[in-house]
Amino acid sequence: MASLGEFEFIDQFLKAQAARGQPFYRHPQALGIGDDAALLPPLAANEQVAMASDMLIEGRHYLSQVDPRALGHKVLAVNLSDIAAMGARPLGFTLSAGLRDIRPDWMERFLDGLLSLARDAACPLIGGDTTAVPADAPEVFSVAILGAVPLGEALRRDGLQPEDDLWISGHLGDAAYAVSRNAEDPKLNWPQPRIELGMRLRGIASAAIDISDGLQSEIMHLCQGARNRDVAPKTLKAVLNWESLPMGPSVTASIASTALSQADAICIAITGGDEYELLFGAPQRERAAIRSIGAALGLALTRIGHVESGRDGPQIDWVNTAGQPIPAQWQQRISGGGFRHF
Ligand code: ADP
Ligand code: MG
Repeated sequence: MASLGEFEFIDQFLKAQAARGQPFYRHPQALGIGDDAALLPPLAANEQVAMASDMLIEGRHYLSQVDPRALGHKVLAVNLSDIAAMGARPLGFTLSAGLRDIRPDWMERFLDGLLSLARDAACPLIGGDTTAVPADAPEVFSVAILGAVPLGEALRRDGLQPEDDLWISGHLGDAAYAVSRNAEDPKLNWPQPRIELGMRLRGIASAAIDISDGLQSEIMHLCQGARNRDVAPKTLKAVLNWESLPMGPSVTASIASTALSQADAICIAITGGDEYELLFGAPQRERAAIRSIGAALGLALTRIGHVESGRDGPQIDWVNTAGQPIPAQWQQRISGGGFRHF
């Protein structure tokens, strides 16, 4: 297979394709790929910039034989998910790629997945870096993404208040279940960042985070955020109903066929990563507003519990609808949960 040089790659593939369908590239003051740095159109007067970055490494976050289209989609999707979790609107992103060589047909498919999502999200590719890695090194893709949010309206991790409800978007379990079976699943391979939801939750949600490392660990992050904030820090306990967790279609089908036990399904839903749904808190008075956002977006929004003032440190109590605690052997399995990077 022929290999391309870096400059041909940027000229032949990137410049033209990145501009397609992106109003950014028609803005008279904006500048995308091709100069020393990109120039963004001016922000609205009351906006601030949100910025995030996430990378995927071959052999660690994806397998070498992965569908390049799905990989291109995913590297942008996980970054858009961070922008969504801040309630920001996407402005654009850069892509830094460490490649063993530039394989044109592989790259074409990768860019197809990447840039289709970029167009859907109105988030243009505006620059990046392309460099060779040693022949025996893993390839790496790193995205840096920019968003804009009205001053003071970003959805932060540190805003939870006692008595707030906890909600999640979509459903849980299918991504981690696919990983555990070494299977493909749309939830794992084609995550859908909840950008519109994040923007609509401004002024409604008290705090938000996206579920990348597992529900339980993200809930702890929100409780920890409330404890660490400068203004009126609070020690919170989350009380969550495991029976209310919305299970994904693959998990649901496997419970029905008895391929998966209820206990396993719940452990997967509570500890499984790679979901890219939003977990958010909101005051009880916002329930109707949240339900109408879900209806408008055609997206399930499920109330899974609430937080209350706690005494010793952030903590999660799992109960069922009748208020009974989670069985001890399940508790043991979920308490080790959450993906750890090191
Ligand atoms: P420099 O020497 O200034 O770093 P480069 O030769 O690395 O410039 O890049 C040339 C142009 O191509 C720059 O505008 C850069 O942003 C863009 N570019 C390089 N690699 C990528 C990539 N993987 N994705 C998007 N844009 C890229
Ligand atoms: Mg460069």
